[in-house]
Amino acid sequence: MSDKTDISRRTFLRRASAAVAAIPVVSMAGMSAAKASPMAEDGHAHNYVADAANADHPDYSEGERCDNCAFWDGNGGCHHADFQGVNVSANGWCDAWVSG
Ligand code: SF4
Repeated sequence: MSDKTDISRRTFLRRASAAVAAIPVVSMAGMSAAKASPMAEDGHAHNYVADAANADHPDYSEGERCDNCAFWDGNGGCHHADFQGVNVSANGWCDAWVSG
């Protein structure tokens, strides 16, 4: 094999390694952007409160919190359609709460 072939093969492998190494960085950047959603404020929808202790609603039962609701995504988000684009507090509550 000639020197020229070796150099271009080495260059190709170096660039391919760099490209593969960059994939997780790009993925992590996307995750950061998702976490940057604003926090829902009290009253956002369904009588939401950021602290379940402040829930003043007849449907509320002690112990119900966002992080034990079926809509909780485990990462600060809520899968309920009325909470898209915002994060909710783990100890928040709203009247759409469903046992998770
Ligand atoms: S649907 Fe569940 S997770 Fe979403 S805001 Fe209401 S209580 Fe919290």
